[in-house]
Amino acid sequence: MPPLRDVINRHGLSANKALGQNFLFDAQLLDRIARVPGDLAGQDVFEVGPGPGGLTRALLKAGAKVTAVERDRRCIPALAELGEAFPGMLRVIEGDALEVDAPALFAQRPHIASNLPYNVGTALTVGWLSADWAPWWASLTLMFQKEVAERIVAAPGTDAYGRLAVLAQWRSTARIAMPVHRSAFTPPPKVMSAVVHIVPADEPPGVKFKVLEKLTAAAFGQRRKMLRQSLKAVPRAGEAAEAVGIDPTRRAETVSVDEFVELARALS
Ligand code: SAM
Repeated sequence: MPPLRDVINRHGLSANKALGQNFLFDAQLLDRIARVPGDLAGQDVFEVGPGPGGLTRALLKAGAKVTAVERDRRCIPALAELGEAFPGMLRVIEGDALEVDAPALFAQRPHIASNLPYNVGTALTVGWLSADWAPWWASLTLMFQKEVAERIVAAPGTDAYGRLAVLAQWRSTARIAMPVHRSAFTPPPKVMSAVVHIVPADEPPGVKFKVLEKLTAAAFGQRRKMLRQSLKAVPRAGEAAEAVGIDPTRRAETVSVDEFVELARALS
């Protein structure tokens, strides 16, 4: 395969800021990211935003069958060349990942791997985490700005802990697989990044997702207030909190994921 920088130059792929384009060229780093989901030989992978195809190459080299959705038409010819080098292994869809019916594209559960465009990364991730359980995907390996990655894996009692942490952790395990320095990207973004690895677990029984969503919205919507006040927006939540042993004078950021689950179960 030609070096990625040559591919970029030959296809005139100057980075477009509006599309969140910060490209990765370091083959070793890309191989490390492609190893995060585990052995990909023969596995389906869904990639959002392949761009010139750096991560795509690494995934293909690892033996994955990749379906990639790319919004920037300029990247399609470069990706077609990559497809020729890995016959039958790469399917490229030109489109917006927010609109594509991704589950319909796969017969077996794909791993999702992406150096996400920062402007739609959180929306896509929240969508994947809100899917019916067991989800249509096998794991998520996602590059985020470091601050977003920290919010996903945050523990109670920290400033980073909030709705995203509860959403990511109540029926999945979430960890930071590796930090990535801003200088690894072209052009370099202003902030550091990190790859997050999320693996779905069993859904706790008896809990309605919508109820958990309402509780976390109310509790973290007024995170500095006591639960007694912040949970007023959810009928019966105050009494339910006391019934499951959560002191109503506590604040949302001290309530563990398991405690939110208990509370949601009591209200579901
Ligand atoms: N995967 C490449 C890499 O690691 O070098 C590029 C990553 S770059 C951070 C994000 C990519 O997502 C860009 O190629 C951009 O055009 C694409 N993109 C942005 N918004 C998108 C959307 N809504 N749907 C699909 N792709 C999108």
